[in-house]
Formats: sequence, C-alpha cells, structure tokens
Amino acid sequence: MKFLRRDSEELDSRALPEMLLETLKMLDGDSMILAPGEIPLFLTPGIEALGVLRDGKIQSPELLATIRVVRRTHAQQVGKIDIPRGPIGEGKHEFTIKVLPLTKDELVLVLVSDESEAQRVHDVRRDFVANISHELKTPIGALSLLSEAVLGAKDDPESVTKFATRMQSEAKRLTDLVQEIINLSRVQDSDPLQLAQEVGVEYLVREAMDQCQILADNRNISITYAETTSASVLGDRDQLIMAVHNLIENAINYSPEGTKVSITTQTTNGIIDISVTDQGIGIPDTEKERIFERFYRVDPARSRQTGGTGLGLSIVKHVASKHGGEVTLWSVENVGSTFSLRLPVFETQIESAQ
Ligand code: ADP
Repeated sequence: MKFLRRDSEELDSRALPEMLLETLKMLDGDSMILAPGEIPLFLTPGIEALGVLRDGKIQSPELLATIRVVRRTHAQQVGKIDIPRGPIGEGKHEFTIKVLPLTKDELVLVLVSDESEAQRVHDVRRDFVANISHELKTPIGALSLLSEAVLGAKDDPESVTKFATRMQSEAKRLTDLVQEIINLSRVQDSDPLQLAQEVGVEYLVREAMDQCQILADNRNISITYAETTSASVLGDRDQLIMAVHNLIENAINYSPEGTKVSITTQTTNGIIDISVTDQGIGIPDTEKERIFERFYRVDPARSRQTGGTGLGLSIVKHVASKHGGEVTLWSVENVGSTFSLRLPVFETQIESAQ
C-alpha cells in the first residue's frame, strides 16, 4: 500500500482522510486518488502491478478521458478500459472503472475492478464447452462401438485382441484430450503475471526438451539447443515449459523421420525469442492464422495419427499473451516451420546488461 506525499506545500496541506484510505484498502478492487494534473496521491498495489499506472503516468487514454469528463461535469462516470499486458502481442487486461469526484473541483477517486475480465472468461468458457462436447463424442463413441464389438467377438481371441488394442488407443486419446482441456482452461483462467516468478529461459528450454526426448528418439529426430543464455522471464514456470514443450512436440510430429529440430534463443530490445525450427511438412499460407484456434487442424487424419488434440497451439498462444508476449510463425510447405515464442525479458536482466 502506498501513500505518496508530495513536496509541494499545496498538496501536503491536502491530507486525505484516514478513514477514506482505510476503506479503499479494504475494497476488493483497486483504487487511486488523483490530484489535478493526474498526480497520484494514493494508490493500492494492484494499480501499478496491473499496469494502470506506470512511472506515475496513467496508461489508458480512455481512463484519462473519463477523468477529464468527471473534472468537467463533477458527476461520476463508469466505463471499461484495456491495458496491454506487455510491450508486444495482443494480450490485454480488461477492467471496469468508476471515476468519482471527491471534492468539488480537486480530487478524483478511480475504482478499478476486473468485472469485464470475469465476463470475458465466462464467454470463453461457454464457447469452449460447446467445442469440447463435440470433440469428446468421437473417442467416446468409438469406445462404445468397440466394446460392443468385443462382446460380439468373445469366442474369437484374435478379434478380441484387435478391438481391445484399439480401445486402449481411444482411451489414451480421451485421456490426452481431457488433460489438454484442463491445461488450456488453467491457462485461460489464471493470471500468471499476478503471482509471477522469475524463470530462466535456458532452464525452461531444457526442461521442455527433456520432456520430448522419448518422442524424438522414437522418430529418430535429433533436437539441438547449443546456446546458453542468462536471460529470464517473469511468469508461471509450468505454463512456460508447457508452451515450449508444445512447440517442440509439434515440430517432431509434423516432420519426417530422421530430420532435425533446432531451438535457438535471441534477445532484441528487451524481448527474447525462443524459436523452434523443424524440417517438416510446413503450413500452407491459408492456414497460418487458423492453426492457433482451438481444435483446428490442417489435416485432421494426420493429427489423429499423432494423437494431436488440436489444442497445443492455442495453449501456446494463450500462454504467450498472458505473459505479455506473442507467438509468431514462419513456414514454407515441404521445407519447414519456425515457431517463435516471444516474451519480455525480466527487467533486472535488462538493467544489469546495460
Ligand atoms: P495438434 O494437437 O493437432 O498438433 P496444435 O494446436 O498443436 O494441434 O496444432 C494445430 C495444427 O497446426 C496441427 O494439427 C497441424 O496441422 C499444424 N501444425 C502445428 N505445428 C506444426 C508444425 N511444426 N509443422 C506443420 N504443421 C504444424
């Protein structure tokens, strides 16, 4: 909790009532009190943590405009604002704001709550449930048919083995799908920047590589990551590993046997690119946007063969945008693809590098 005192006598004399500040501290949402010139006299920690205020400056033009209206009309205003989660990508925080005049022409109180974020999560979840039911029907239907087939063939051990083996693979598919659904809904619901930890980029690349090694060995694909980097990013460690893991897993699954997958990291202007390059089948230009949608596959038959759920890339996209970053793609059919997870480098790293 911060109470910013100003040097100027004028502002010092305008002490804020203790009871008001105590009340604001107890509210669920965040708040700030602004003097003329939008000088913050009081703010709760979330105001800076969520990026509403940076270096003492309000980041949202909509919020500034609303404050101006309140100063002019002396009437309270309610609205919605978006704040970018990082310097790149489309990730945004969405908030509902209420701006109230505190005294006739001087101070303004801003209340910030994430109701609109809650509404967005609700909408996403509703669409998601509709998709999920459709996707679950396929393996469940297959299991049901196969179990009937097993019953019908009970005197024929060879057929029973054949059907039971297919049941096993459908059950595995179902398990993978449920796991991916859980992963995606966790990523969608959480805010990794609120309880963020510092994660070393080299560590997360190596963890993700280790997790994919058996799959790579089975397909005789070599994964290389020759670099070292001391850069780190801020966020949820497990989510970040999962995102890199998904990129490596796809690079292996959509490449011919015996090819190479290489991972590189490069920092430019405070952004680190974690790039996964394959020598695989590539992605047609017309599909490049759509592959990041939930359950979208270029070739559903192939994806089914590799056990793909169609959720891997949408998880990567969500993890990137929730961390204030983005995922970019370069790909040429029958040549290969490079997916880059681009994330803001943890600030102390930038400072110490300067
Ligand atoms: P899936 O579980 O089907 O792999 P993803 O969301 O991870 O789902 O990927 C969506 C689709 O994008 C895949 O089905 C595939 O058609 C395409 N794709 C993803 N990564 C690659 C890649 N490295 N090379 C070629 N195609 C890819």
